[in-house]
Amino acid sequence: RDGAMKPAPAAPLVTLATTDYAGITRGRSMTRRRYEAAKGAVSCGWVPANISLTPFDLIAEGNPWGSKGDLRLVADKTARFQTWPATSSSPLDLVMCDITELDGSAWTCCPRAFLKAALQDFTKATGSKCIAAFEQEFQICDTGWPAAPSFAVCALRRAGGFAPELMGALEQAGVEPELIVAEYGRDQYELTTGPADGVIAADRAVVIREVVREMARDRGWRASFAPKTSVAGVGNGVHVHFSFVGPRGKPTAYDATQAGSLSALAQSFCAGVLRHLPALVALTAGSPISGLRLQPHNWSSSYTWLGEKEREATLRICPVVTLGNNDPGRQFNIEYRAADATACPHLVLGAIIRAGLAGVRDALPAAAIFDGDPQMLDENDRHRLGLRRLPQNLPEALEALASDAEVSGWFSKEALATYIGMKRMELKLCEGLEGDALCTRYAAIY
Ligand code: GLU
Ligand code: MG
Repeated sequence: RDGAMKPAPAAPLVTLATTDYAGITRGRSMTRRRYEAAKGAVSCGWVPANISLTPFDLIAEGNPWGSKGDLRLVADKTARFQTWPATSSSPLDLVMCDITELDGSAWTCCPRAFLKAALQDFTKATGSKCIAAFEQEFQICDTGWPAAPSFAVCALRRAGGFAPELMGALEQAGVEPELIVAEYGRDQYELTTGPADGVIAADRAVVIREVVREMARDRGWRASFAPKTSVAGVGNGVHVHFSFVGPRGKPTAYDATQAGSLSALAQSFCAGVLRHLPALVALTAGSPISGLRLQPHNWSSSYTWLGEKEREATLRICPVVTLGNNDPGRQFNIEYRAADATACPHLVLGAIIRAGLAGVRDALPAAAIFDGDPQMLDENDRHRLGLRRLPQNLPEALEALASDAEVSGWFSKEALATYIGMKRMELKLCEGLEGDALCTRYAAIY
């Protein structure tokens, strides 16, 4: 070796990241030195057809973009998440980006821009802002662990340093983890975070997935957020908790005098979500295996159902804790349970808000709160109570999307064609795979 030169130390990287229609976080990286030295906006090139990537990496045939065109990934400097997990060889430094045209204007397919616009329109129409928190479940595979009882102390402790190191990394990243829980399913865990403004909440969901997967990978395990890792196994849900905050921090989703304590705003909002739910499923749980999870008696969701403290309902009015003189209004939130990690969190929350806003715009009356088991009712009673079965597979969900003019209307022609084209290609690439084989395929990706 040349005595005058020492091996270069590793240059820590900052990754400019976007989470696409397939729910996969992709990006490009530069040295931290370069990122921090930049004055003003930091951006890098991006390719339009990337948004047409299926989870299997093949780009959807006949997408609107082809091999032409150029975009920018523009770093949102306020959405930088830095952590150095105890087991990782270098810091994980993710900065969430908006996908823009070369002049900085929003690109028609950018999921983050979609969410931002929905949030802005919500605030413009209601005077409130929407806050949210994503509750996410995952399973750890390839550990060789013997089974442990659900919710058991030993189910968490057998993971050794994983849980404490994970929570440390997430705290360092600033995503405000609340609880890590050994869940009901085999080797299943759940992570909750504190509420935050809508965009931050969705960004956090992305960061949590990446940190969990990395820390499992570092141990030779695989963490999977796939909605099902086997047909008979317990599903992994993504539950989106949302609430509204008005001027001077006033909680505006809560009204103790109303059924379910839903304010007039929240009543119309929930009615809007329920009205558009079949089409929403194409966006929030839109993989070929998502329907396996959205079955009755799975504590996931399966009907257009508003329920109070009911874990089978798709919209669950969550409990408020009065213990310790806590203010109920500040905790009050509603949980959307028909989402999973094959969907982009920004698209999920944006779609929920757009649907709710349509309900507010149309001043929809409160939906009935249902208490019971829809499976025990006959079809006439379900109809009377507004309980419609959610689409049971992706083709059905895509049909619901295509036939819901309101939901399709939230997207530009190109964006809708891109999303549907990608999903159709995803279905095509799954042909010949069913049941457990299909779940295994998704468990390896998500
Ligand atoms: N695993 C359930 C799901 O697929 C959720 C269980 C729960 O946290 O209530 O959504
Ligand atoms: Mg759970």
